[in-house]
Amino acid sequence: MIPFIDLTRQHAGLRTELLAAMARVLDRSQFILGDEGRALEHEVAVACGVRHAVGVASGTDALRLALVALDVGPGDEVLTPAFSFVASASTIVMAGATPVFVDIDPATYTLDVPAAERALTPRTRAILPVHLYGHPAPMDAIVALARRHGLAVLEDAAQAIGATWAGKPVGNWGDAACVSFYPTKNVGACGDGGMVLTDRDDVAERLRRLRHHGDGGRYRHVELGYSSRLDELQAAVLRVKLERLGEWTERRRRVAARYRELLTDLPLGLPVERRQARHVYHLFTVRHAQRDALAKALTDLGVGTAVHYPLTVPNQPLFGGDERRFPEAWRAAREVLSLPCFAELTDAEVDAVAAAVRKACERI
Ligand SMILES: *Cc1c(COP(=O)(O)O)cnc(C)c1O
Repeated sequence: MIPFIDLTRQHAGLRTELLAAMARVLDRSQFILGDEGRALEHEVAVACGVRHAVGVASGTDALRLALVALDVGPGDEVLTPAFSFVASASTIVMAGATPVFVDIDPATYTLDVPAAERALTPRTRAILPVHLYGHPAPMDAIVALARRHGLAVLEDAAQAIGATWAGKPVGNWGDAACVSFYPTKNVGACGDGGMVLTDRDDVAERLRRLRHHGDGGRYRHVELGYSSRLDELQAAVLRVKLERLGEWTERRRRVAARYRELLTDLPLGLPVERRQARHVYHLFTVRHAQRDALAKALTDLGVGTAVHYPLTVPNQPLFGGDERRFPEAWRAAREVLSLPCFAELTDAEVDAVAAAVRKACERI
C-alpha cells in the first residue's frame, strides 16, 4: 500500500529536533506572542523575500484578517477563482464582502485573467488569486489589471510557499499574501497555523493589532479585533521544518519530474508548469474523464489518491450549490485526481505509483 500522504515519515526523521524545540517552549512557558513566534516571523520573511510576516492561528485567519487589514468589507466585491479550497471565498464572506467567482485557466487551474476583467463592476475592491496545487497564478497580468482599476491584491499562497512567478517569489506580488501551516501543507505545523506576508508597513501594523483583540498597546483596544495568534509551540516546530523547505521542495519537484517522465504517453492530463513558473507541487494532480473509475482502480491496486476538489466553490452547498457558469471549474471538479506527492516518497514508490496508473488506465 502506498499512502496518499504519510506525515509519520517526516516526523520520525525530525523527532529529536522537534522534541527539543517543544521542550524549549515548555521550559520557558511563554505560549502566546513570544520569542519563537518573533523568530519564525523573521525567518519566514527572509525566506520569502518580504519585509513583514505576521503569524496568525491558521491560513484561513491569515486571509480573513488580511482582507480586514486591506479595508475590504461590506459593499465590496472580491474576485476569486471558482475552483479552489473553500476558504479562498468563505473568508471574503467572513470579512463582510461578496465573493465574485471567476473561471480558471484549465491548464494551470489558476484565475483566468480575461474572465476576471469581464467580472469587474464598480463595486470590485480586490482580487484574491490562488496559487493552486503550488503553481503560481499569472501575477504580472493580475497586478497589471489591479493597477488599472485601483484594486487591492491578496495572494492565497496557502499551497505555494517557495513558488516563484517570473523569478519573483509568491507573496511579493500583491498587497499581502497568506500562507497556511496546516499539517499537510509544504511546511506543516503539528496543529494549525498561518501567516500573512506583506511589504506594507501599515498592513503589518494593523494585522498585529487585529490578531490580538485590536489592542493598540496596554489593553487599549482601538478597533474590533480577533483572538488569532500563532502559538509558540507551533512556531518552534515550524522553525525546525522551515530549515528543510528548500530540500523538501527540490524533492517534490523531482517526484513530479519522474511522474511526468513515466506517465507522458498515457491518456491523462498532466500538470502544466508555465515557462514563468516554479511550481512547488504541493499536489501532483492529473485529470481524466473517468476520474472516479481511475481512483477506484488505483485503490484496488494499493495506491492512495485524493480529489482536490470534488465541487467548484460556487457549487458548494454553502454558496447555493446550483451553479452552471464557470465551465472550466466545473470540468476540473469532475476530472482531477491527486497522486501521492511528498518529500519522503521513495523513487521505488514513485515508480510503483506510475506503474499502477498505467495499469489502471488500461482497465478503464
Ligand atoms: C489550506 C488552505 C487554506 C486555509 O488554510 P488553513 O490553515 O487550513 O486554515 C486556504 N486556501 C487554500 C488554497 C488552502 O489550500
